[in-house]
Amino acid sequence: MIEPVMETFYVGLGANLGERQANLTGALAGLAGTPGVRITGCSSVYETEPMGPPGQPLYLNAVARGDTRLPPLDLLRVFKELETRMGRRPGLRWGPRCIDLDLLLYGSVQLEGPELTVPHPGLALRAFVLLPLVELAPSLVLPDGRPIRTLLDQLGSAQAPGTLVPGTPMPDTLPVRVGPPIPYPDLS
Ligand code: AMP
Repeated sequence: MIEPVMETFYVGLGANLGERQANLTGALAGLAGTPGVRITGCSSVYETEPMGPPGQPLYLNAVARGDTRLPPLDLLRVFKELETRMGRRPGLRWGPRCIDLDLLLYGSVQLEGPELTVPHPGLALRAFVLLPLVELAPSLVLPDGRPIRTLLDQLGSAQAPGTLVPGTPMPDTLPVRVGPPIPYPDLS
């Protein structure tokens, strides 16, 4: 039998309802407990302004890295099942949620489909994704050749205000570190 290839992926985690930090940790533990998935690193946790409908609680965001033998769509389905198991219910686009899991990157794969777009289309535009991603993998380069550090710098530059998603603060006002890196299970 041919062994499926192991790929490195990055997942963006967000929560602005309930026990936010516990939700992030629970999601990581859920991913780490999934057959064919291993979590290998996680950024610090950042407290961030929500984008989308006004009046929402602040988010906690983090980015984790993992290895997987699952194909991208199967990995997305794992994310969605985990969100549902953790109590996420369908709601407003960008509305409040107890957990949100986004597949940011999957190896050097670039794909655009009805269920899944990779790299995640918001990646280059969102400081709450780029900041923890740069912390976790400073020299990471996107499949199209753009270094993530350059993308973060561009987001903070006054020359490129159009690249900011409304509601996303500039990076220098964004991050509030609220704790040490989230612990993750050592599965080695
Ligand atoms: P969300 O509101 O973040 O849960 O995402 C809504 C929908 O976006 C999901 O049901 C996915 O099918 C779709 N989607 C497309 N690309 C991605 C991606 N890279 N990561 C997560 N969801 C994605």
